[in-house]
Amino acid sequence: MSQLSAAASCPPILPLKHGDIEGTATLPLSDYHAIDQQLLHKIAYDALVWSSLHGLVTGDKSVERSGSVPGVGLVHAPFTLFPASFPRSHWKQACELAPVFNELVDRVSQDGEFLQDSLSRTKKVDEFTSRLLDIHSKMLELNKKEGICLGLHRSDYMLDEQSKALLQIELNTISSSFAGLGGLVTELHKKLIIGRHHHIGWFLLRNMLSHYGELLGLNSDRIPSNTACNQFVDALAKAWCEYNDPRAVIMFVVQADERNMYDQHMLSLALRERHHITSVRKTLAQIDQEAELLPDGKLFVDGQAIAVIYFRAGYTPLDYPSESEWRARLLMEKSSAIKCPSISYHLAGTKKIQQELAKPGVLERYLENKDDIVKLRKCFAGLWSLDESDITKRAIERPELFVMKPQREGGGNNIYGGAVRDTLIKLQKAGSQEDAAYILMQRIFPTSFATFIMRSGCCHKNHAISELGIFGTYLRNRDKVILNEQSGYLMRTKISSSDEGGVAAGFAALDSVYLT
Ligand code: ADP
Ligand code: MG
Repeated sequence: MSQLSAAASCPPILPLKHGDIEGTATLPLSDYHAIDQQLLHKIAYDALVWSSLHGLVTGDKSVERSGSVPGVGLVHAPFTLFPASFPRSHWKQACELAPVFNELVDRVSQDGEFLQDSLSRTKKVDEFTSRLLDIHSKMLELNKKEGICLGLHRSDYMLDEQSKALLQIELNTISSSFAGLGGLVTELHKKLIIGRHHHIGWFLLRNMLSHYGELLGLNSDRIPSNTACNQFVDALAKAWCEYNDPRAVIMFVVQADERNMYDQHMLSLALRERHHITSVRKTLAQIDQEAELLPDGKLFVDGQAIAVIYFRAGYTPLDYPSESEWRARLLMEKSSAIKCPSISYHLAGTKKIQQELAKPGVLERYLENKDDIVKLRKCFAGLWSLDESDITKRAIERPELFVMKPQREGGGNNIYGGAVRDTLIKLQKAGSQEDAAYILMQRIFPTSFATFIMRSGCCHKNHAISELGIFGTYLRNRDKVILNEQSGYLMRTKISSSDEGGVAAGFAALDSVYLT
């Protein structure tokens, strides 16, 4: 027997970690624990092969420089073996919110005074927010208006078990990730359920997978298709057309050691294949070295005209280790290139602004349509600033019901449980302005269910909870709204005992939706 066939019949790489999964799962996927172990190993093996063949991969943390050299040190992105159940009505609700949030961001971004005022206290204690606001102020002083605005957003939600309400976690307006890899997981799940694997010739496996689909009553049509990658790319291409310079390219602003680069490369490839548009990748430091701003506002980087700047970096203070990176950000903002996001779109997506928008009467300043306002309010969780003393008192008494959030993106920054109480007491004792760095949010408790998470080639059986992200694309050229759409989704599933949720940050796995 050859090594390959031996491996195919008995995958050696999947030590299953058994958790206690009785009792809490939701139908129809609750029957996971009834799956025959041998079948499970085969499905997991097949899913791992599929992920490698189709680029569902990231740089491997354990391999040095795996984030900077493509094709070296790859590992599959963490993903769940089967899709997560999600009620159709809440799915529809989340999808319908996308164009409304797109419009809201666009309107709020044009109210420079609101952005500056809302963040003025935060500015005093948070250096990063302060630097972003400085760039924003400079643009206001220059009376610079963005003619063409491009938003590639992702609004994240959890379904609260007790209230059965779909509640927004946050709205990402910068570097909304996984439009690429998220769609691949959707495809993988559909394939696993249908069991069409003729191309690798595992007829036996195919039969077993078909059997598996029937066994659990799973129907691949219940997994909504996910065209996030193409829709993001089409939006970038439309923006590029509006800029109207055939020689100009799209610049991806990236981190030097990005491990989630294949998610980004999927967009670059699709830009080339669908639209014949060239894209280049530059770090903020490279841009500082190579960029030139012409008197007419045109931006050139390494001699190349730039039509659209797509930020996949610049959302965390870690991306600005020196003045060089801040110089690059400012220079880009001054240019006439289309920025995705502009500094005002970036600020409109901060957690402080999310909290301000949830205050009574604020949405009414930006949206006319009453139904839209009702829809948005319905998905707002409790959000408070720390100067509301009755809420801080309550959070000290019952910290488990709150999440404390600083003005940061990218996962791993929030405060939970007992640490909420400790931090609040510390801030009170200090009596300083430090509290302005945070907001308080109602903690959402989604239903936990049993799932299998594939990570580093191993299959882990866990209790998990899910977070649904809905992508949105928006493009406006002066008075003309060219695009305002819901554009695919990202389901993420994390072990229910983990507080944080990022996939790239190592907390969650990519998933897809199974409509119930
Ligand atoms: P980041 O910008 O770092 O992604 P988020 O607001 O999305 O910040 O929080 C990170 C993670 O923390 C989320 O993905 C989610 O898993 C968890 N989380 C955030 N807010 C809440 C909340 N109100 N209730 C429960 N979990 C939350
Ligand atoms: Mg988030």
